[in-house]
Amino acid sequence: MTIAVPAVRVEDKLYQNRYLVDAGRPHIKVRPHQSPSPNLLALTRICPAKCYELNATGQVEIAADGCMECGTCRVLCEASGEITWDYPRGGFGVLFKFG
Ligand code: SF4
Repeated sequence: MTIAVPAVRVEDKLYQNRYLVDAGRPHIKVRPHQSPSPNLLALTRICPAKCYELNATGQVEIAADGCMECGTCRVLCEASGEITWDYPRGGFGVLFKFG
């Protein structure tokens, strides 16, 4: 018995999505900090859109362009106040392509 393997990779499907940037109004912000907490640091590894990065001086920064609004960072760091999280304004943000 042969099992059919999908010819399309998840990364290729995600690449079909589009993002409309709301210039100057990021919907997620990171609270200024000296060194990141373990949860904040974890965002650099678990964000599926790779929006979080460590800068040269060891703080976590976000570039919200490309955010898929999955809410992972919100669950992990909003309650502690390490990030603020809102949905983008209407018409901005991720535009999912289904199918
Ligand atoms: S909501 Fe999801 S995709 Fe967007 S920045 Fe947070 S973890 Fe990344």
